[in-house]
Amino acid sequence: MSLYNIFDRFVFLPIGDFVYGSSVVKKLKELRKYDYLEGKDIQDIQNKKLQSLVRHCYETVPYYTKLFDSLGITPEQIKSREDLAILPILTKQTIRDNYDDLFSKAINPKRWRKSSTGGSTGMPLKFCTDSLEWSSWKASTLRAWEWYGLKLGDKIFSLGGSSINKKKDFFSFKGLYDRIIMRNFKYSSADVSDEAMQRNYDAFIKLKPKAVRGYGSSLYIFARYIEKNELQLPPVNVVLTTGEVLMPEYRRKLEEIFNAPVYDAYGAGDGGILSHECPKREGLHITEEACIIEITDKQGRVLPDGEVGFVCTTDLDNYVFPFLRYHVGDMAYIKKQKCSCGRHTRLIGEVMGRAGKLMYNKQGVPISPTVLPMMFYPELNYHNPEYQKVYNKIDKFQIRQDVKGDLVILIKLKDNQESQDQFYYIEDNYRNHFVGSEVELRFVEDIPTLPSGKEDYCVSEYEYYQ
Ligand SMILES: [Zn+2]
Repeated sequence: MSLYNIFDRFVFLPIGDFVYGSSVVKKLKELRKYDYLEGKDIQDIQNKKLQSLVRHCYETVPYYTKLFDSLGITPEQIKSREDLAILPILTKQTIRDNYDDLFSKAINPKRWRKSSTGGSTGMPLKFCTDSLEWSSWKASTLRAWEWYGLKLGDKIFSLGGSSINKKKDFFSFKGLYDRIIMRNFKYSSADVSDEAMQRNYDAFIKLKPKAVRGYGSSLYIFARYIEKNELQLPPVNVVLTTGEVLMPEYRRKLEEIFNAPVYDAYGAGDGGILSHECPKREGLHITEEACIIEITDKQGRVLPDGEVGFVCTTDLDNYVFPFLRYHVGDMAYIKKQKCSCGRHTRLIGEVMGRAGKLMYNKQGVPISPTVLPMMFYPELNYHNPEYQKVYNKIDKFQIRQDVKGDLVILIKLKDNQESQDQFYYIEDNYRNHFVGSEVELRFVEDIPTLPSGKEDYCVSEYEYYQ
């Protein structure tokens, strides 16, 4: 442990709490203690927090007072996660329509921290939190970093678009907090030109980070630049991905190039979702002390564990602008099995992506985005070295599903002279999974990245889910 690690933990972090009015130190201690609690004890903590939140909502948030009264519900009826089902779903539209009525009258507006979701996946949503929410967020992140052997004060090289990299934040409290306390040094992924990648590489060498962090696809683009130019990298301990579905191909490439394990995280500021991949890689542990996650159908009926549905969250720490049963817009499933690591919190098995972006076959079965790239291998066999050679001739791809459910697969080859005939097996692979869909392979000059620097490998206009 370096002197900086010690200072950060015992001096800078408490100073950060003092200046911001937050309680990260206290929360982190709590979460460390909760880490190995029995399932029943975690439930007790969650139920207590839920009951207190629901009471607060009924007594001080006009939207919920009206809602409970109109449904004839009392706060006492909601004692646990199972009881939440008597409440309707809170949608983004409901929030926009009732924005002013969703603020608690009991909390001084001076404590509000205005926030909004990024606009890259739809219309931005404005909402509010406070320092309690922020403390939970930071503490949950720090605890996960500890799982991976990172210490507070270890330097992190972050590559991100708008949601984890804002220039105007450089001298703000958050910007300083990030650099001095979290030691999260942020670089832009928006520009994917070779010049920008070289600048990022130079910064990386200078920084000598212990960890790399960012969107899976942005880090993947960076890793491919390093590989293409045969650049040397100083060793890092861990790669942390966040903000989008992590493709197995991205994970594989990142582990190869950075020579370190990749751990994924799934969170959402709106709705207070916090979850981090277990070091055992059996799924993402939900921070159940901070949020309740249900998986439901569109109407809010709870689905059994193992079934893919809408992520529905209740944020146990947001008393300013409370979210009860909020559909965040993602699809995922909860694992039936407990994790073998000994932690008793429930696991998110896989985040399948944004609702409306997920692909379905014409029978309505969702196709996991993580298997989509598998179909670029002959016979779906990515272990065969010969088949890997074929796959490696592809520079980029994008799968597009139209409103009717038919597919167009765009492919950019590394070498335009390459015979296109050898790739038509890909159409068959897709046809076999997307039974009844028409599939067309199209060779293109380029597939542009999104303005945030993310690579968008699948785009769907097909909404089967009812
Ligand atoms: Zn685990």
